[in-house]
Amino acid sequence: MTTVSAEEREGAHARVREAIADLRPLLVDVSMDLHAHPELAMEEHHAADRLTAELAREGFAVERPVAGMATAFVGRRGTAGRHPRVAILMEYDALPGVGHACGHNLIAAGGLGAALAVARALPEVPGELMAVGTPGEEGEGGKIIELEAGVFDGVDSAIMFHPGSHNWAIRHATASCHVVMKFYGKAAHAAGAPEKGINALNAAIHTFVHIDALRQHIPETSRIHGIITHGGDAPNVVPEYAEAKFLVRSLTMRGAEELLAKVKACAEGAALANGARVEFETGRTYAERKNNRVLAERFTRYLEATGETVEEPVLRGGTGSSDIGNVSLVLPTIHPYMAIAPKDTPGHSREMAAAAASERGQEAMLHVAEAMAHVAVDLFLEEGFVERAWEAFRTSGPDLPA
Ligand SMILES: [Zn+2]
Repeated sequence: MTTVSAEEREGAHARVREAIADLRPLLVDVSMDLHAHPELAMEEHHAADRLTAELAREGFAVERPVAGMATAFVGRRGTAGRHPRVAILMEYDALPGVGHACGHNLIAAGGLGAALAVARALPEVPGELMAVGTPGEEGEGGKIIELEAGVFDGVDSAIMFHPGSHNWAIRHATASCHVVMKFYGKAAHAAGAPEKGINALNAAIHTFVHIDALRQHIPETSRIHGIITHGGDAPNVVPEYAEAKFLVRSLTMRGAEELLAKVKACAEGAALANGARVEFETGRTYAERKNNRVLAERFTRYLEATGETVEEPVLRGGTGSSDIGNVSLVLPTIHPYMAIAPKDTPGHSREMAAAAASERGQEAMLHVAEAMAHVAVDLFLEEGFVERAWEAFRTSGPDLPA
């Protein structure tokens, strides 16, 4: 890293503030565009088209597809492979039924804003700036697929944010596993020859009952929740096929995988009792989260300079999960939360979907974009900052609730 004077650094930070003010109409438009076109995990073509077009317009070299995913991308500025390498991450998938109830449209617009602001502040990036499109956060583990494909190899810091109902610089997250259960039975006339049928739906229903019994004996911070996605085709046909999907969460990956084995045993027992057969499709395990305190403290300072107040994090109880956890176990990472809705509004709710298109949502997105861009500028220009982030990474573990 070449030494940069304090004046030059302050000039770059001033350009970040100017860039965000200038980009405001564009970023609001991008967030509303994505909100109006909710796309499910791994089907985010409109979002990926829009985001890559905006990056290309600002001179980013855009690679897409990435890691075999059509809606994953990386936009680059600076010198490929040169350190420091700073990745700003975007998510843009929506949820079935409730649209952008997780506010990923704001994650996308805020990440885009931060990346464009850094590019404008540092016309010659002294390292490599990566704007990474990470599809399929809602269950498909796009970031895990990118990690496995080497997208994050040699990256010094990963920065993103998530909308919510509190301003938090750090928070723990549970590890989680997705499992699809496929129950196979035998069709027969439900009235004329029920004794000749094998009821796959009964096996699915009894799986829920077994899991409810298991709940008495799991840690308070673990979660098991599922739905039936197929329950038969007609009431007068014994269901020959039934399908359920579950999420199994625990404080750590190891805990989640152990609990998953018990959940699978519930399904196997239910299948056996009904003479049915069950097969499992297990997804990628989302890891617990390691928050980088050096990056989080710097982020807090810059976010508060925009007029926001950052609350003390609540490190207790169960929480949601994200594939950013897997990234955070490999390199210095921050994933702060921005309040876009009144305190304690549940995520994945209709209220949160409305907040993701609200004026407060836009304001929070612009503030966080600015703060993330300032942190990235410091990673590029401040001597020793990247090293301090790595030191904190090496000397701390994942955040677990008390
Ligand atoms: Zn989310």
